[in-house]
Amino acid sequence: MLALQAKTPEALERAVPGITLSEARKIVAAVHRGEPLGRPLKEVRRSAVEAVRERALVPALEVVSEQASRVDPFVKYALRSPSAGAPGPACGTGSEGPGTPGDGHVFETVRIPLERAGRFSVCVSSQVGCALACAFCATGRMGLVRNLEAWEIVEQVRVVRAGLGRGARVHGVVFQGMGEPLANIDRVLEAVGVFCNPSALAIDARAITVCTAGIPSGIRRLAREAPKVRLAVSISSARREVRRRLMPIDKKHPLEEVLEAAGEHARITGLAPMWAVTPLTGVNDSTEEARALADLAARFSARHGARPRISVIPYNPIDPNNDPFVRVDEAGEARFRHAMRACGVMTHKRYSGGGDVQAACGQLSTRS
Ligand code: SF4
Repeated sequence: MLALQAKTPEALERAVPGITLSEARKIVAAVHRGEPLGRPLKEVRRSAVEAVRERALVPALEVVSEQASRVDPFVKYALRSPSAGAPGPACGTGSEGPGTPGDGHVFETVRIPLERAGRFSVCVSSQVGCALACAFCATGRMGLVRNLEAWEIVEQVRVVRAGLGRGARVHGVVFQGMGEPLANIDRVLEAVGVFCNPSALAIDARAITVCTAGIPSGIRRLAREAPKVRLAVSISSARREVRRRLMPIDKKHPLEEVLEAAGEHARITGLAPMWAVTPLTGVNDSTEEARALADLAARFSARHGARPRISVIPYNPIDPNNDPFVRVDEAGEARFRHAMRACGVMTHKRYSGGGDVQAACGQLSTRS
């Protein structure tokens, strides 16, 4: 069965013989308004609705928990896929059909408040677990369990949206939850297509950011196939031996290769990349580290004509019993940013909220 919430009108028209694009648009719009599929729709033939009902449903994720931070307005959701073979809960279809088989795995999503009241961004997961094993990330400790399906990615935004009050809306999406999105790029691109489609979730593509640890082929594909979507690269350190220790992916795809692809992305899309760095006490927080990063940013700007926007993200503990790193204190972070500014490179400090419910950057994990 097709998962209807992961189809654009064009994809639905291709998948269901006999329906027109105009009908597909109206059906997709009804699905994203949350209407039951059986309901008659203006200017959609009954036979078209029936053809879609025979082939598609709208599988749902079970909300296992919803934890609101007590210190800021971040909310973390744990979501479970339907179990394989179990009758899948279907939402909004009026369909009694089986759900798209899943496996009962749980993954997490975070609702992030934006500055403007009533506007939110959704930090979505693209995989259950992650194979890349970055040393500062709880998800990386899980190993890869599996890729998420496109509908499971789309559904995360729909779950968050369903919990918003009147007048509030999802303004953006950031692929910075569990998993490396470019390691699941087919499904990520499918989901992005639905996020941006005016009949579906109608989110401005420029308010969508894909964050990667550095997969050059994926960066190039993202530039070609979703050229309005923004790119963020986790840099961690401009020094090879330090980066390799923190991000083992650097052995397979060295940072120079990743930045070459990021430069192409900037040329094709006209969008400067965001670079993320998390200073860790005694690891990558020194003045030399800051200068090396500033130097790398300056060389990137000169070579590619795009100045990276550098986000300094505080470290969030990932293990209450034996945490591998110590967060840099305010003074250390200020020193690091000052050293970069002294080299002519501006940074901005990213607020990373929801730490008390393990919803902050690097903390997502469903390892039991
Ligand atoms: S930071 Fe991202 S790429 Fe690295 S282990 Fe965590 S989820 Fe995977």
